[in-house]
Amino acid sequence: MRIATLLLAATLPVVALSATLPKNEPVPGGVVVMQLPAAKLAPVVHFDARRIMVIRHAGHWYAITGIPLETRPGGKTLSVRQSGAPRLQLKFSVLPKTYAQQDLSIKNPKLVNPTEKELARIEQEQAHLQQVLNSWRPDANPALDFIWPARGPETSGFGLRRFLNGEARSPHSGIDIGAPMGSAVEAPAAGLVADVGDYYFCGHTLTISLGQGLYSVYCHLSKILVSRGQHVRQGQVVGEIGASGRTTGPNLHWTVSLNGTPVDPHAFLIQGPPSQPADAK
Ligand SMILES: [Zn+2]
Repeated sequence: MRIATLLLAATLPVVALSATLPKNEPVPGGVVVMQLPAAKLAPVVHFDARRIMVIRHAGHWYAITGIPLETRPGGKTLSVRQSGAPRLQLKFSVLPKTYAQQDLSIKNPKLVNPTEKELARIEQEQAHLQQVLNSWRPDANPALDFIWPARGPETSGFGLRRFLNGEARSPHSGIDIGAPMGSAVEAPAAGLVADVGDYYFCGHTLTISLGQGLYSVYCHLSKILVSRGQHVRQGQVVGEIGASGRTTGPNLHWTVSLNGTPVDPHAFLIQGPPSQPADAK
């Protein structure tokens, strides 16, 4: 169906496209792209009580749903409301995916187990960030074709099941991009700066809202060059690579969050890292 949609899109004038569709990968940590029944107005869609992005693409409505990493594979349901029509239940399946395991060892016990005071701070910061990521900003036309945000290779993948000194930790919520201190970090797409802060794990952190519950979060920055409420365009330099927060050296940790859950940023990337051999001629 995806190929048919793309072929159809290719024959239509550019103005008919309101957005590029992300990659459909119905797995934990992936994004599910589902065509909705025809309707004049945009349907309102929920998954597990969370509002879901709906976009118009090539003459159809699509629901774009982020699947939490902790989701058990199996049958799921989208709840679809259309004005003047009964509520619809659309079924889909989440397939299993096993992410690689990563074993880390850190010698300094202070870094492994934060103090009680630090734990209180971490809890407060995580609640604040989650509140930002749960916020809904209506945008009929969110930009879904991201660019790679820094000049460097992917050094750590999304969803890695991490063990620190043998103890299970939360899975990797984003991807890491390696680049020297001070390198430019660009906005992946046009959006609005939703949050700027200095957090325990993430360090200097910049969160950009792309619209309809889609967010880009950059961690460990050395400098943030934009402020809350500011509009940014795709490719705009918004910060510099750093090593702030809990990290071993300069790198960009990049989380993409959709309907309040981290998803694999590759679902929205039109190209891979610029420095990878595949792009070299
Ligand atoms: Zn990371």
